[in-house]
Amino acid sequence: MSATIFKLIPEDVHFVPDKGNVEQVRSYLVSIFPSATVSVEQTEEIQFVDQGENFVQIACPNCDAVLDLKWWHNAMDSAWQSAFKELDVQLPCCSAHSTLHGLRYDFPAGFSRLIFEIENPEEEVRTEHLRRVEQLLGCEIRMVNARY
Ligand SMILES: [Zn+2]
Repeated sequence: MSATIFKLIPEDVHFVPDKGNVEQVRSYLVSIFPSATVSVEQTEEIQFVDQGENFVQIACPNCDAVLDLKWWHNAMDSAWQSAFKELDVQLPCCSAHSTLHGLRYDFPAGFSRLIFEIENPEEEVRTEHLRRVEQLLGCEIRMVNARY
């Protein structure tokens, strides 16, 4: 059986959340999606938060060129060696500087130490839900819509 997981992560990779706020967001998500499995993952290490089967392509945030996946895998391998602390990259298409978190992932993906996961919710996570989570957590949120 396939699973749909909405993962909410801070737009800022280095955002340090307040414990109480994390719990407030969790309770809020449970109240909105009572029949879904809501979980929070907080880790010391930064992890790549993927979109599973919803991966289409990755594009350059500067010139919109579609990136060669071999280049991306190599860049991921080097970043992995720093446990994803060093995410800076220079793009092969236009030489612009960005980070692996700043690339245009289609569907969205990113890097985080804090992930709220909503598994198989009865309805879509909507913009108004995201805005509320942003208010409660005190930072911008990126939504990773994953399918496995
Ligand atoms: Zn480019």
